[in-house]
Amino acid sequence: MGKKDENEIAQNCAGCKKALNPATRYYRNNAYFCNLNCYKKKIKADAAKAAEAAAA
Ligand SMILES: [Zn+2]
Repeated sequence: MGKKDENEIAQNCAGCKKALNPATRYYRNNAYFCNLNCYKKKIKADAAKAAEAAAA
């Protein structure tokens, strides 16, 4: 004990970065999300970023 086990603890939402509840987390695209809503938000954000990068 005392040493942080990242494999066990590093489970934050890839969308909002909040700590996830292992029982209700939503797995998609190699990442964990709070729920489908956060996943959709992330997709939107990524799409906007990609569009920005393409326009730049
Ligand atoms: Zn989230």
